Amino acid sequence: MEKRISGTTGLFTLLGSPVGHSGSPAMYNFSFQKQGLDYAYLAFDVKKEQMPQAIDALRLFKVRGSNVTMPCKSIAATLVDDLSPAAKIIGAINVIVNDNGKLTGHITDGIGFVRNLKETGVDIKGKKLVVLGAGGAATALQVQCALDGAKEISIFNQDDEFYQNAEKTKEKIEQAKPEVKVNVYPLADQAKLKAEIAQADILVNATIVGMKPLDGQSLVDKSYLRPDLVVADTVYNPLKTKLIEDAEALGCTIAPGKGMLLWQGAAAYGLFTGKEMPTAEYQAYEQ
Ligand code: NAD
Repeated sequence: MEKRISGTTGLFTLLGSPVGHSGSPAMYNFSFQKQGLDYAYLAFDVKKEQMPQAIDALRLFKVRGSNVTMPCKSIAATLVDDLSPAAKIIGAINVIVNDNGKLTGHITDGIGFVRNLKETGVDIKGKKLVVLGAGGAATALQVQCALDGAKEISIFNQDDEFYQNAEKTKEKIEQAKPEVKVNVYPLADQAKLKAEIAQADILVNATIVGMKPLDGQSLVDKSYLRPDLVVADTVYNPLKTKLIEDAEALGCTIAPGKGMLLWQGAAAYGLFTGKEMPTAEYQAYEQ
């Protein structure tokens, strides 16, 4: 470490709360070292109301870039100087790049989702998706899939405070990409869910169902799946959700959330350094 950190080392940060469990410092510091880059990455526990000060600190300390995690993604989008096209539509960011004092916000969750599908041999172009969920991860991937050429997106959500997010996402996508059809349905309408999945190419769970402590649960009855359906999940803890296990057992192509997590991080690394993250080396090191 004393050989790695010097007076010229550029700093990258993670801002959010909690951050103590994050795998990002290990992943980015491994990658900086592997590629001989004079950078270091540290996590800072920052609450939502402290974000204005934290963003000022990025400017003051000339921090090269930062990741932003919950619950600070939306407020951060209001504090930077510019936003990427997807971040403008979504109104949330998970990456800040400091370009000589100008802070630009990006959102790479959706980019990571699309890349994860690509790595399993699935191109989003022209596809019909059914997406369960209308929270942060769901919105990011719905917008990115629309920007990247999906044909139709059917969003299902339970009757809670997130439902109107889905309506807003539909409006925003139809404004930015009028050729993409977006439908919003209540999750309680099981007949509709079954019918929509029957016509879809890709099914995505972007809710917290399947994640600990809701592991072992799935929002989709096994009988709605078929082997030529691609089934993706945003949940990465556990590595395989009940939905992913059901799909795998049936022979579906699967894209679990861990891959999305890796590729959203790799996309951020690309924005930070202009280089491809050594993902294969990191995966080998992690195991
Ligand atoms: P969020 O709080 O913004 O949204 C939660 C969503 O879950 C909403 O749509 C809500 O209606 C739905 N929901 C909650 N309880 C439900 C229930 N009992 N039945 C049906 N629906 C229910 O959460 P988020 O930040 O979007 O995260 C969702 C999941 O995605 C989490 O597991 C998170 O860890 C994961 N995630 C993964 C990545 C990745 O890179 N793989 C990135 C972001 C989030």
